[in-house]
Amino acid sequence: MRCEVCGRESSKLYRVIIEGVEMLVCSECKKFGREVVQKKSAKHPVIKKKTPAPYSKDVFQNMDKDLLPGWGEIIRKARENAGMSRQELGAKIGEKTGTVAKIENEELRPPDATVRKIEKVLKIKLFQEIKGGVVKKGEAKPLTLGDLLRKNE
Ligand SMILES: [Zn+2]
Repeated sequence: MRCEVCGRESSKLYRVIIEGVEMLVCSECKKFGREVVQKKSAKHPVIKKKTPAPYSKDVFQNMDKDLLPGWGEIIRKARENAGMSRQELGAKIGEKTGTVAKIENEELRPPDATVRKIEKVLKIKLFQEIKGGVVKKGEAKPLTLGDLLRKNE
């Protein structure tokens, strides 16, 4: 039997893991790795599957239309300006009150169809103009939060 690390003949070899690779090594080379503990029922570690969030950043990027930064706040302010409760807004756009709250907290990115409904109901603009997939800054100035606040003064 040869040690798989130094190649030396050895009567007793140890099964160790060196840099993630299982090897048979001599007592000298054993110290370079972690000894494999042989259990009767060697269970493989459970690999947790990564389930992407329903509205992950990738989804955002894959959408043709992007929402304005701070859209949740824009919706909330506009709704308050309109003297509407979350319940009322929810009823108008066909969403639950809890969903409206999540949207306003930006915990939930509403589908484009819902965004359009919100735009209509609150008379606001939530989509940024995207030309050729690139947001052109400085162009097509949509209603910002600042505009909304000034309106109220
Ligand atoms: Zn060795």
